[in-house]
Amino acid sequence: MDKIIQVADRRFSLLLPAAEIQERVAALGQQLSAELADKDPLFIIVLNGAFMFASDLLKHISIPATLSFIRLVSYQGTASTGQVTVATGLQEDIRGRHIVLLEDIIDTGTTLHYFLPELWKQEPASVRVAACFIKPDALLFADAKADYSCMALPEKFVVGYGMDYQGYGRNYPDLYEVLPE
Ligand code: 5GP
Ligand code: MG
Repeated sequence: MDKIIQVADRRFSLLLPAAEIQERVAALGQQLSAELADKDPLFIIVLNGAFMFASDLLKHISIPATLSFIRLVSYQGTASTGQVTVATGLQEDIRGRHIVLLEDIIDTGTTLHYFLPELWKQEPASVRVAACFIKPDALLFADAKADYSCMALPEKFVVGYGMDYQGYGRNYPDLYEVLPE
């Protein structure tokens, strides 16, 4: 893999190689399979960013489970806007279900702070949040903490492993952090 990549008009440097991410994602899949064995969980994948994490994680889920997709939008360029829009909502009835929300990364927590109460209105039995990455120093809302995560990151903008800069860079299997301009 390249140590430095160019994505749109910015340069990024390697932060986490794919092999390391895969190891942690596999371990989380095994942990969730053990903990949710009798729960018939519904995995809700938050698009677009979580598609790669979800695809890898779900291969390590070895218990009966269903999945669904939603799209939430809060980011513009390299900063959170503080406004959350549900671009594509849930189609199924989640009443009484055990939900695992799959997120690529929790940054300020704004997205989940607004979305989790919306989810609870539909009366699921439980909601767990599994985020591939978290930025603990950036978190602004205590109710937006991940129940599970693969790795904590410094407060830097990252691309790769599903995450984009200006729509580009989602396809890299490795994670990169932005370099100063
Ligand atoms: P939050 O609402 O927690 O501030 O951010 C939530 C969403 O913003 C994440 O699910 C992710 O899609 C996006 N996001 C947060 N941090 C980053 C980052 O460092 N890089 C990219 N590409 N997206 C991010
Ligand atoms: Mg996201």
